[in-house]
Amino acid sequence: MVEAEELLRGDNLVVQFRQTQGFRRHLIYPVNQISLAVASNEIVGIVGESGSGKTTLGRALAGMTSIVQGSLWLKGRNVSRLNRKELRKYWEQVQMIFQDVYNSLNPIYTVEQQLSVPIQRHASPTQSVQRELENLLQLTGLTPTAAVRARLPHELSGGQRQRVAIVRALAAQPDLLIADEPVSMLDVSLRAEILQLLGHLRDNLGLAIVYITHDLPSAVYIADRILVMYGGCLVETIRADALIQESRHPYTERLLAAARFEKPASPPGSGSESATSSVLLASYKGCPYAPRCPIASQICSTTRPSLVQIGHNHLAACHALSASSEAQGR
Ligand code: SF4
Repeated sequence: MVEAEELLRGDNLVVQFRQTQGFRRHLIYPVNQISLAVASNEIVGIVGESGSGKTTLGRALAGMTSIVQGSLWLKGRNVSRLNRKELRKYWEQVQMIFQDVYNSLNPIYTVEQQLSVPIQRHASPTQSVQRELENLLQLTGLTPTAAVRARLPHELSGGQRQRVAIVRALAAQPDLLIADEPVSMLDVSLRAEILQLLGHLRDNLGLAIVYITHDLPSAVYIADRILVMYGGCLVETIRADALIQESRHPYTERLLAAARFEKPASPPGSGSESATSSVLLASYKGCPYAPRCPIASQICSTTRPSLVQIGHNHLAACHALSASSEAQGR
């Protein structure tokens, strides 16, 4: 089997924010030594609850948030520290779309006016802007195109607005699309359509996609690979088609239970429903999931587990799992 070409790679990425609590200021690490790779033509799902760091990671990959440690590579080129001119070029290759599209559209411009500008900016001298616009509207299902072109943002449905945002991203002819919760504000009936569109774009344009969501079922539906985040760290990475049967990290089990996938019974876990910010502090040394983990042991509160291989194309960061893998001679 031919390995897919690596498009984007991050090595030990760290993002740091300052947080103020009363009179005290802390450094927190919403992205803490994360390494990942995205292949051309691959859809990678990044899954985690609010506060897990998934959006910050997406913004770091998109060059919208600074990385304080680690390195980021696009097509073999180090893009960790770019100047403004280089960043503009990077933003053409790596485009980001967001959940709240309405605020990113100009309310007084029609769809045609909003989209013609970015298409013109990126078109070659021989390309017709009108023809390119027509092609992209067709490709993304914004039909009948003549009617859609003339509409203002408030005259579009939520699904149509998200499609307009996708066209705007495609105008730059990117290699990678980072989609941050692109369907979470849509009606259930429209979500599958947008997810199918993203899959269609991967198949037809060869686009790689990072799909960021708190909704595990939608990630399993669309992604090739799932990266599960908790407390600023990757805790498990696994092929999407193996996740339901083979995932083993206690946090992934909890997400599965919440999504009501069928899976052999596992302890439900305890504690609060979201990552406490204390596990994001520089001073916290243990497993970020330890305060909630039903099988935590003493080592979990003192030593951060590394992400290690526990199966084929399957990594997890958990002392209990690495101990059982070692016992089985993996
Ligand atoms: S390392 Fe410990 S606390 Fe973390 S998930 Fe594994 S058993 Fe639970």
